[in-house]
Amino acid sequence: MSSSQSNNLSVKEKELSTERRPKETEEQYQERLQLMKRISRIKHKILVLSGKGGVGKSTVAVNLAWSLSEENKQVGLLDVDIHGPSIPTLLNLEGHPVSSDGKSILPVEIGNNLKVMSIGFLLGNRDDAVIWRGPMKYKAISQFLRDVEWGDIDFLIVDSPPGTGDEPMSVVQLIGNADGAIIVTTPQHVAISDVRRCITFCRQLRLPVLGVIENMSGFICPHCGERVDIFKTGGGEIMAEEMNVSFLGRIPIDPDIVIAGDNGTPHIKAFAESDTAKSFRKAIECIIKIEKYNGIDKNK
Ligand code: ADP
Repeated sequence: MSSSQSNNLSVKEKELSTERRPKETEEQYQERLQLMKRISRIKHKILVLSGKGGVGKSTVAVNLAWSLSEENKQVGLLDVDIHGPSIPTLLNLEGHPVSSDGKSILPVEIGNNLKVMSIGFLLGNRDDAVIWRGPMKYKAISQFLRDVEWGDIDFLIVDSPPGTGDEPMSVVQLIGNADGAIIVTTPQHVAISDVRRCITFCRQLRLPVLGVIENMSGFICPHCGERVDIFKTGGGEIMAEEMNVSFLGRIPIDPDIVIAGDNGTPHIKAFAESDTAKSFRKAIECIIKIEKYNGIDKNK
């Protein structure tokens, strides 16, 4: 599979058919049916994407999953970021063993509402570099989506690999009918141009863009309270307007995000009353609305 094949792909049409495809082996067909069965039990599937690494994609994914679970939603958080799986660190689950019931991989449960699975649980030593070729990555990602026992849940948040290459494309294609993507960026030009590519990528794959979050947007000095725009600010919003996608909000640079992440607790939980936690909640408000909107529709 190459990026050039993304053109003219209609994910929904191609991925959701239960008919056997012309070149599909029986094994591939059965695996695809199993994946569809698994995914059909999940009401909403949301991908968290970024144009590049290190912009806070996993941090957003963790805080989004946590805040949905706080709203009493049943939530799954899946980390398929092969080259930098940071969910185990951000949730203090490093080295957590993976268990199975003989048929499926069992996710790690945090409290009553949140189930977590990371490709990092399977990678052994966290210092090992992962050198996998494209097809191996595709296989690992598809196994992960197919074999994890999520059960019936309201949301699956997928922390996808950064960029617009084969890996995020695999995720989009395998999930097939995702609700859409949240794209995380930082405010500098160089990050913003990557996000434009990311939006174009979503459009080519017919994956709705739920909106853009501008992370690391300004720094409020804890001593004097003055705001310093270290990486500039506002670039994400201007770009979102130009590209005709929703701007979901800004998250400032906040040393407490690093502290919470290093301690393995979602910031939104550890610093629940902080202004930054409020910014997080505001930025992800629209995701709760997806659920409400669908709920109203279903009752009609
Ligand atoms: P990505 O998934 O895009 O690679 P991460 O979410 O792993 O990025 O974040 C990279 C690092 O930046 C982590 O140490 C995280 O705690 C930190 N970080 C993320 N967002 C912020 C922020 N708004 N302020 C300060 N540090 C942040």
